[in-house]
Amino acid sequence: MALSDYSFVNLATVREDLLAKKYSATDLVEFFLQKIEREDKYNAFLEVFSNSSLAAAKALDQKITSGVSLGELAGAIIGIKDNLCYKNHKVGASSKILNGFQSLFTATAVQKLIDQDSIIIGRLNCDEFAMGSSNENSAYGAVRNPIDPSLVPGGSSGGSAASVAAGLCMASLGSDTGGSIRQPASFTGLVGLKPTYGRISRYGLIAFASSFDQIGPFTKTVQDSELLYRVMAGRDAMDSTSAKQPVHQKKAEKKHFTFAYYNEVIDSPGLHPKTKALFLEKIEALKRAGHEVISTSFPYLDQLVPCYYVLTTAEASSNLGRYDGVHYGARSEASADIPSTYFNSRTEGFGQEVKRRIMLGTFVLSAGYYDAYYSKGQKVRRLIKDATDQILAKADFLISPTTPHPAFKIGEKANDPIALYLEDIFTVQANLAGNPAISVPMGTTDEGLPLGFQILGKSFDEETLFAAASLV
Ligand code: GLN
Repeated sequence: MALSDYSFVNLATVREDLLAKKYSATDLVEFFLQKIEREDKYNAFLEVFSNSSLAAAKALDQKITSGVSLGELAGAIIGIKDNLCYKNHKVGASSKILNGFQSLFTATAVQKLIDQDSIIIGRLNCDEFAMGSSNENSAYGAVRNPIDPSLVPGGSSGGSAASVAAGLCMASLGSDTGGSIRQPASFTGLVGLKPTYGRISRYGLIAFASSFDQIGPFTKTVQDSELLYRVMAGRDAMDSTSAKQPVHQKKAEKKHFTFAYYNEVIDSPGLHPKTKALFLEKIEALKRAGHEVISTSFPYLDQLVPCYYVLTTAEASSNLGRYDGVHYGARSEASADIPSTYFNSRTEGFGQEVKRRIMLGTFVLSAGYYDAYYSKGQKVRRLIKDATDQILAKADFLISPTTPHPAFKIGEKANDPIALYLEDIFTVQANLAGNPAISVPMGTTDEGLPLGFQILGKSFDEETLFAAASLV
């Protein structure tokens, strides 16, 4: 039976429907494959995995027929950002330098989803090597925002956001180094989670800035975000930075919380008036619901973005050293010897923003400048972490808008890297300090553009973060 009009409710319902034989997994996959083919006008999918997703559906249908118990994510149709490895499938970080490269293994986070019977439907466009805030830095073209295709969907996980917002898959995975899940979730009206650093294994995630990167889900609901998070979280022997702390399986019981916000945020001239109005309304609503809301100030607000860009470019320049035209992907045709192979492959293979970051990172790490930039950046990062911990000793959560303003026009900021870097003002703190943070829809502008509300919580306490996120 072909599904003609299917509308997704949540992941738990899909599993129940499969068990009740309302439809088969093959029906579901066929429905989404056709929908992507018909409706992806947003350039969200770089590749659809038709064969492997249909094969996975068939295997799942056989399990159902033979009465084998199903995984928690049975029938979940999930798209993955093009920086997550999936064995025998192409992966490219939306870069020409990885043209033709196939994954040799599967990322742990992706494998854990598959082990719970979810189906990976394809790979999603993103900014090249996850560097950007608008998804205009992809070698395969910009992604459009399904809410208004003249606008960006945010970045760098723009395809992950657009695909879920347009209903082309049920949920997706992205990565967040400085906001790349939360900002696009905010621009497209979704829930986006950046877990605590070390909570989800980074094995099989193409590295951008290893001490910042985390994998996380894009979903329509907080409940689905929590479900995907729980499946993916946990220690992994393949990632030495993955944490040993046990993952709490229970829901948090506390119902009343203390939320802190920064005075400077509300007074910031860069804040869109509707962002400010909705944020203030949220604060009032929290107070009315019996929560405590306290204002505080943060001495390092102006240091957040510069510190983030000094440290992440340093890490990126080192991580991206491995793309030399020999080990991976594309090699320049104009290669005569080893130096020209490296030089020409990197010159032709990397895009402008990636080159800018490699050069910045090489500069801040170079002898003579190391102490002034990289080493100072590390010290500032420590101050930011300590100040964040101090706030979270007085409050359960830190709240802010996810972004200063709603989605902007494609091309509007393309030639102004500094303006784009300032997009990250509210999101980078969580990555610098390592804390988990979630973006949930906060309302829309008068033009109907979504805005996000960010809640930053205590490290390794995602459970309480989800409890708060489902209240607001
Ligand atoms: N916009 C930020 C940057 O360009 C964040 C990117 C990310 O989180 N991957 O670095």
